[in-house]
Amino acid sequence: MGNSRLLLILGGVLSLCSCGWQQQPAGLEVDTALESELRQTAAIDNHAHPVAVVSYGEEDHDYDALPADAIADLALPPLFREGSPYFPEAWHALFGYKYSDASREHVLILSKARQEVMKSKGDLYPSWVLNHANTDIMLANRVTMGRGLPSDRFKWVPFVDPVLFPLNNSSTKNKDPEHNAFLGREEELLGRYLAAAQMRRIPSTFDEYLSFVSHTLESWKSSGAVAVKFELAFLRDLGISNPPRESAERVYAIYAQSSEPSPEEYKILQDYLFRHLSREAGRLRMPVHIHCSIGAGSYFRTSNADPLALESVFNDPLLRRTKFVMLHGAWPFAREAAALILKPNIYVDYSGFSYLTYPAEAARALRLYLEAAPDKVLYGSDASPFSSSVGWEETAWLGAHYGRMALEAALTGMMRDREITLDEAKILGRKVLRENAHGLYGF
Ligand SMILES: [Zn+2]
Repeated sequence: MGNSRLLLILGGVLSLCSCGWQQQPAGLEVDTALESELRQTAAIDNHAHPVAVVSYGEEDHDYDALPADAIADLALPPLFREGSPYFPEAWHALFGYKYSDASREHVLILSKARQEVMKSKGDLYPSWVLNHANTDIMLANRVTMGRGLPSDRFKWVPFVDPVLFPLNNSSTKNKDPEHNAFLGREEELLGRYLAAAQMRRIPSTFDEYLSFVSHTLESWKSSGAVAVKFELAFLRDLGISNPPRESAERVYAIYAQSSEPSPEEYKILQDYLFRHLSREAGRLRMPVHIHCSIGAGSYFRTSNADPLALESVFNDPLLRRTKFVMLHGAWPFAREAAALILKPNIYVDYSGFSYLTYPAEAARALRLYLEAAPDKVLYGSDASPFSSSVGWEETAWLGAHYGRMALEAALTGMMRDREITLDEAKILGRKVLRENAHGLYGF
């Protein structure tokens, strides 16, 4: 097509690669009119972990529920490992970094440049990052919000997994070091949620526990939460059965104050709580975000994250008022996700995978979603801190930059194949970048 051009994105990537072999650079075709239209659209980022502004000596541990330092090997693909050509690109865009490597002396210069910007911006630094990522509003998946994250730019998404683990968690903790650390953190967070409800331990009756869950959701909602998030696939599988209340109540009554339930018994309680919580979130009009994708850590079971396991939840008539959002494009289960968003209450975001995969793969997956249900596709970055030199700032920028590129390429492919016109592509692009989120959250 006449007004399109070839973006040789991998050309630059491969020229920085120290390996000796040559690969034919792949190209992404992006329509220039579509590109310039979408570059003017400030995004709503469906999922991210921005870091709060802290004073000297202070640290922010609430940007995520999972303790990242408990993971010895993140087990992420090369694009996100040390030496990735993406990092200098993000450093350049944010802090004027002039180098294509990450040598110790150059990274020191970067660190100084970052400190200077942070100092000069103060509490406005996180909003400055959003401006650089062409992002209007970021959904902040955090335990609590914090300094420098104003509610007009950052919308809170708290974690709900801790309430699914109120009993003795020893057998899950004993699986491996990561489960041990993750469950330890869930227990700590449940303790904080209970403390916020003026409780020192879980109540003795199931009724009281269910009302604690509902009150917690209500208080989050009144503190500005717009959705809730499950990261359950890091802790167990997503096969949620539909047990009767009496069965869950029996497990709770026996084990609330005493020994450890069997895995089968604990699952009954967790599955009941998952549905109870999802129903309550629906009543409060808070969409439920679910991690269903690859996960950080070498013990993570990708098969645990298969979104097809959630089909009985998605099909539950009692949960049809609840909107569910599969995070991270449910990648590598993209085809499954495309089928699931045909259901009236199911959405997908593509946070994270625009820098964990190459843009060509992200564009392929995005096209599947766009061809299935374009009103249910949401842009997201999964901005998170990864190391001392790659913070949430870099991942916010990379998610925005490559996420837009993948979206533009997917839409251009659909135009080229005469599935949509340029005008329709512009409309769909704006929907994915912000309007679908507007409709879903109503802010
Ligand atoms: Zn995340």
